[in-house]
Amino acid sequence: MAVEFHLFEYLSDNYGVLLRDDATGRVACVDAGEAGAVLAALKDKGWELDELWITHWHWDHTDGLEEVRAATGCKVIGPAYEGGKSFTFDLSVKDRDSFSFGGVDVAVWHTPGHTLDMVNYYMPSEGVIFTGDTLFAMGCGRVFEGTHDQMFTSMEKLRTLPSETVVYGAHEYTIANANFALSVDPENAALQARAKEVEALRKAGTPTMPTNMASELETNPFLRYDQPSLRAMLGMESASDAAVFSETRTRKDNF
Ligand SMILES: [Zn+2]
Repeated sequence: MAVEFHLFEYLSDNYGVLLRDDATGRVACVDAGEAGAVLAALKDKGWELDELWITHWHWDHTDGLEEVRAATGCKVIGPAYEGGKSFTFDLSVKDRDSFSFGGVDVAVWHTPGHTLDMVNYYMPSEGVIFTGDTLFAMGCGRVFEGTHDQMFTSMEKLRTLPSETVVYGAHEYTIANANFALSVDPENAALQARAKEVEALRKAGTPTMPTNMASELETNPFLRYDQPSLRAMLGMESASDAAVFSETRTRKDNF
């Protein structure tokens, strides 16, 4: 791999990721909810930050932005879409934009629903995507600002990723997500096996991130709206994919 990834935990259940391009030594960080955590992770690795990539405006992803910028002089990249709070980005990015990290291409995917400004950062050559609060292991973000249809469209987009794509979601919600997934997809053997795996990981204090698309397509109910077993469980055999997704999201909100 030309890029090294370093996952770190902050606040109660957030994940940030540091990236370092081997060829150029360039370093980036995805999100900055807590400046101290970003700076500590950099210190752990002995890396100096060049770029910060913001996924969306929520405080647990941005509260440390100005402090990290002041401490490191990094360039800050973030969504061009309006959010609940405004920031000064050195580069504002929107859907289908791309930029270069060292020599590595980063494609920007707008995935609204959780927030309207949400962008995900996809590195095709590395087979890695940072999905912020759009896609989690066996779950998806709560739909706060957008509509269920918007979030469904974002899921449709993410389903086009190659199955081997490594997915970094921004929270450790996996146990709760697995419990909900089992409630709507109880006969899914891959899901049953994975629920056991993640339980063991969490008992050992091990992060369940990153995940990958192959595993999500097999076990994540928010990507499985076209599966007959899930549809039957919801009593929605002939409903549209968007309606099945919406019902699944509503059930999770009330779970
Ligand atoms: Zn959020």
